Amino acid sequence: MNPDVRRYQALGPSPRRLFGTGPMNPDPRVLRALGLPLLGQFDPEFTAIMNEVGDLCRFVFRTSNGQAFPISGTSRAGLEAGLCSVLEPHDRVVVGVAGRFGELLAEISTRCGADVTPVLAEWGRVLDPDALRKAVAEVRPKVVALVHGDTSTGVLQPLENLAGAAHAHGAAVLVDAVLTLGGVPVETDRWGLDICVAGTQKCLGCPSGMAPITYTSDVERLIAGRHMPVQSNYLDLGQIQAYWGPERLNHHTLPTSMTYGLREALRLIYEEGLETRWARHHRAGAALHAGIEAMGLRLFGDPAHRLPMLAIVEVPAGVSEPGVREMLLRRHNMEIMAAFGALCGRAWRIGFMGYNAEVQNVLQFLEAFEDVLIASGARVPRGDAIDAANARAGSGR
Ligand SMILES: *Cc1c(COP(=O)(O)O)cnc(C)c1O
Repeated sequence: MNPDVRRYQALGPSPRRLFGTGPMNPDPRVLRALGLPLLGQFDPEFTAIMNEVGDLCRFVFRTSNGQAFPISGTSRAGLEAGLCSVLEPHDRVVVGVAGRFGELLAEISTRCGADVTPVLAEWGRVLDPDALRKAVAEVRPKVVALVHGDTSTGVLQPLENLAGAAHAHGAAVLVDAVLTLGGVPVETDRWGLDICVAGTQKCLGCPSGMAPITYTSDVERLIAGRHMPVQSNYLDLGQIQAYWGPERLNHHTLPTSMTYGLREALRLIYEEGLETRWARHHRAGAALHAGIEAMGLRLFGDPAHRLPMLAIVEVPAGVSEPGVREMLLRRHNMEIMAAFGALCGRAWRIGFMGYNAEVQNVLQFLEAFEDVLIASGARVPRGDAIDAANARAGSGR
């Protein structure tokens, strides 16, 4: 035995309650699925599971696309797979940039060698649909890339009527639905989204590590008609779809345990029903927003376009932004998150997603948040947050 045996103790992570912007706490049934016995990559039992995962992806994306499967890697691997498999050097891309994740789409597109035209909106606001349509008409891009729910700003970008203009000019629409899928309606087919990408650790209720993606047969044709091979082997959708499809062409070794976890998370959504799940996120979010405002705190962003699963809370004067997060963790075992960019140090990001999106969790959080804010010197009325959250949740039932 190694004489230094006491150097590394057995793992024993604290039972944190993850009320930030992901990961959240998965349903225990998802965690159990992660520990099931492994199957080989081409075991017929496992390929049958892969087929079910594809079907369940179609279900949550509300699509009848032939292509729907998870990319192995976190959400940004899915975004990168979508962009790098379609874009070639000097292709034109219009990107809606209204937060950190719009910037990410622009950055990935630039790295693909594309010519990027950003359409900007101030953080906290939605894109101006006319500005977007004008840019598309002028630039005539191959791809229009948009973020549905930008986790940096708490804003929900309406997408219902944006694809038509892109299609009229021959562009494919790629959407980052990483935050929103499973939490609010994402209507891939009805809204005409050509490529839609999600992530597992937000409203889908799974640990991070995979990125469900779906795309149309038009996009399949774009990929098949490339002049040059995709620079990335790992993220080449043409190769990955041949692995997920009936050809079963060997690509990477699918992460078996994550595939189980994702299948269980998607199965739980199927069992609950999407409409019920959206309503649950909406109820928890409404209680959260009511509670925060009853404390006299301000929510960042346009109230008409607020994401239900998030609250971007402005830090009150005289209160330490990191101090509150540290005390929440220490006293209450609860995690919330810092903000990005210009909001860094000025706001907290708080989220109730997937399994965590329950009014009871919100009430427990509000009590803890009130305790920590008061201990940090903020003037917060005691008990008002709980009353307001309860009142809002009650009226919503
Ligand atoms: C979390 C998030 C991402 C990135 O996800 P990773 O899983 O960390 O790669 C991308 N877009 C949005 C909108 C997100 O919320």
